[in-house]
Amino acid sequence: MASRRRKIALGVGIPLVVLLTVLSALGLLYYRQLTRSRAAMTPMETQKVMDGVYVCRAAWYNNFWLFKTDCGLVAFDTGLFPEKTRSEMAKLGFRPEDVKAVFLTHTDQEHAGGVVNFPNAKVYIGKDEVQMIDGTTGRVPWPLSIVYYNELKVPYTTLEDGETVDVCGLKVKTVFCPGHTPGIVVYVVGDKLLTGDTMGLVKGRAVAFNEYLWVNMSNEQLNRSIRDILAKIPGIKYILSMHYGMTDDADRAFEEWRN
Ligand SMILES: [Zn+2]
Repeated sequence: MASRRRKIALGVGIPLVVLLTVLSALGLLYYRQLTRSRAAMTPMETQKVMDGVYVCRAAWYNNFWLFKTDCGLVAFDTGLFPEKTRSEMAKLGFRPEDVKAVFLTHTDQEHAGGVVNFPNAKVYIGKDEVQMIDGTTGRVPWPLSIVYYNELKVPYTTLEDGETVDVCGLKVKTVFCPGHTPGIVVYVVGDKLLTGDTMGLVKGRAVAFNEYLWVNMSNEQLNRSIRDILAKIPGIKYILSMHYGMTDDADRAFEEWRN
């Protein structure tokens, strides 16, 4: 009897240990890749970059952007931690309460998690991103999606592809640019393009946003979006990215994507 029990214990125990070892190794590998990709990012320090346009440090690997209007600030993406958001904005003489509208490129946490820091803001997301926060589409494959998922803890208004919203004279145009998530959008404000996690900037050149493991939900679609949508938006001079700083030479950045 005892030896039968021992056989059963070994039959279950050994495969379980092997499975846990493999899962732990995969988890560590993913974490290492993610850390490396973040280390390669080049966010900016909080500062005024031109008249009415400010970049804010959100965390050690990303930024959000602020545009000044006659009736308050407009944010593109958010910080994450309330104290960090407040202290970085204070360097510019601003308060989170001054933000009247937040345009989210997508709902990954370092972009959207800090939306609760802006109590007076109306919040916008692309219509196709709703699937990421209503339980329809997991951010990562099951079963990891049970513990890691996107959410938005405030009411929001959805935007159509090509729609323009006017916030106190600041005209913000939404362009759908799927790949990183199915519903990620970029925003066009005059000659400025706010890119979210669609692309990176390396030595002034546009590259696909880091193509590590599950960071982009479809690398193929992302590359197509950069070539067919992003690089073709007319009249862009400035690219304002969320993880890779900015450039004032969009033509140079997109050169290879337009050939
Ligand atoms: Zn993202």
